[in-house]
Amino acid sequence: MEIPRLHDFAMSVPNTIAFSEAMGFMTKSEQGGLNVPFYITAHEVAHQWWGDQVRGAIVKGEAMIAETLSHYAAGIVTLEEFGEESMRHIIQYERGRYLKGRKREVQNEQPLYKAESQSYIHYGKGLINMMALRHYISEDSVNAALRRVIRDFPASQGIYPSSLDVIGEFRKSTPDSLQYLVTDLFERIIFLENRIQNASSKSLSAGNYELTIDLLTEKYEADSEGLLQPTSINDWIELAVYGVDANGSEIVLHRQMHKFDTTTSTLTLNLTTAPTRIVIDPASILMDRNLDDNEWRF
Ligand SMILES: [Zn+2]
Repeated sequence: MEIPRLHDFAMSVPNTIAFSEAMGFMTKSEQGGLNVPFYITAHEVAHQWWGDQVRGAIVKGEAMIAETLSHYAAGIVTLEEFGEESMRHIIQYERGRYLKGRKREVQNEQPLYKAESQSYIHYGKGLINMMALRHYISEDSVNAALRRVIRDFPASQGIYPSSLDVIGEFRKSTPDSLQYLVTDLFERIIFLENRIQNASSKSLSAGNYELTIDLLTEKYEADSEGLLQPTSINDWIELAVYGVDANGSEIVLHRQMHKFDTTTSTLTLNLTTAPTRIVIDPASILMDRNLDDNEWRF
């Protein structure tokens, strides 16, 4: 249901989704791009769970429940409907929203669990960090945690969770080795500077290539002024190596998590096909302000 642009919002209740003209209603959805009306509509429908069935306690971080979780649902529904390419657009868009938003912050940037009326945090960073959690612990594990939140905190019975309750459920679905990630995503303001400094590949024999990669993996935490200070790293970061098959199509030669506990490191991989491209954090879900240097092409 379209409403005039006297109001600038969209919302849903069972059987009606009201959409302001000013909220993407008229947006042309480009082929292959992000279908904005779909994304916004999915977000509004998701509020029937996050915001209606589960209502956050009116304390700091309430927006992490209503907005971040609705936005995550919208992202997943869009991914299922339009595929990986649309997810790349969403990540790029929300990343830009977060990075631009924090530059314009006039008070203090908050970590997600304390986000208030800071849309760049609860939408932008929220979407990306939820996607990161999903990438590391699996969609099923995230869903199991969310299902427990819906079961244990029904607004209809006057039970209202805080963001810490939701994070507690994420922790129950997260192995010990990744508890640090839950802390980083929701309770700290973390940036990574991942970079492929150098890479070389040599053919040892037919079908046997040795790839050597020099990596930079710096980790930063924002202080109370929002300035980034170096902090120690002991993180799992994904690395992908691609090659080309006999038909000229790109294939994945290696894609797995590696543990980095120093800011510079050298990795050696043995491959059966010549590498053409290497990417650190190929899903672009770790908050890295400079993605251009995450890729190396031969
Ligand atoms: Zn919303």
